[in-house]
Amino acid sequence: MIEVESLTKVYPGGVQAVREIDFTVEPGEVFALLGPNGAGKSTTIGMLTTTVEPTSGRARLAGYDVATEPLAARGVSSVVFQESVVDRSLTGRRNLELHARLWGTRSARIDEHAGVLGIADLLDRPVETYSGGQRRRLEIARALVSEPRVLFLDEPTVGLDPLIRYELLDVLAGLRDRGDLTLLLTTHYLDEAERLCDRVAIMHLGEIVALDTPAGLRAELGDELVELRVDGSGDDALATLQERGMAGTDAFVVGSTLTLPVSANGVDAPAEIRKLDLPVASLTTRRPTLDDVYLRLTGGRLAEAA
Ligand code: ADP
Repeated sequence: MIEVESLTKVYPGGVQAVREIDFTVEPGEVFALLGPNGAGKSTTIGMLTTTVEPTSGRARLAGYDVATEPLAARGVSSVVFQESVVDRSLTGRRNLELHARLWGTRSARIDEHAGVLGIADLLDRPVETYSGGQRRRLEIARALVSEPRVLFLDEPTVGLDPLIRYELLDVLAGLRDRGDLTLLLTTHYLDEAERLCDRVAIMHLGEIVALDTPAGLRAELGDELVELRVDGSGDDALATLQERGMAGTDAFVVGSTLTLPVSANGVDAPAEIRKLDLPVASLTTRRPTLDDVYLRLTGGRLAEAA
């Protein structure tokens, strides 16, 4: 449904926002672009939704090239932006009707979409009376009015408080379960990617640095991690561990906390670490999470540099 080949964006002034990325998304799949601010996620969505012109490479939606067939590509897709696009002085229903008319689609499914998004009871109220989460749902319903095959969501839960965020995730999971829609979302919340997505591409500095299922990404770090907090510099402690052959290139440091994947080779890693003369503040073992994968790939590059 989505095919991306060597897609690149260099903004005027020379910022290389996206660098030769490749990925494909299957029909019905839920796919996340995950990464810190500035990683290139929004630019990628912009190119896929034809608002940002690619510098090179290509992207197709349902076979339509976003650069050479932009109208057809837009015709099969919809996007929910970070910024609100609904008219707050109108009712929810009026907003959806106007959008349906713009797209020349039947308005009969407005109630159905509102029902799926859990806002059927609010439709006849002005949008200005909606809460933030309700407005976000209306934005999604609006995007569905044109009956897209691909729905893009740019940071759909940003700025929502935790309960509302969870409710919205539940709604998105409902859309996923319909199975006829392909979803591509950007997020910097790992739990979101883990709960909703079939596959996740981790972006860093314009590149895709990992792409797999959430479970596959976690598996790269093995079954167990040692998490070690030291008094003072984590980097110095890592250097000591590396000198002793007790930390590999998959170890990473954030501040005073070191995270070390441990292989199942029978060595009692915590006991070995305690024998070293390190200023240990705490030492625990735990199973890897997607956070570890993300930090290792986007934040904790110090281990590789060391
Ligand atoms: P993300 O969505 O992951 O936060 P963006 O795609 O917004 O990342 O940004 C990627 C990089 O491109 C950043 O360095 C950002 O400053 C830069 N950038 C984004 N939009 C523009 C623009 N219109 N002009 C110049 N640089 C831009």
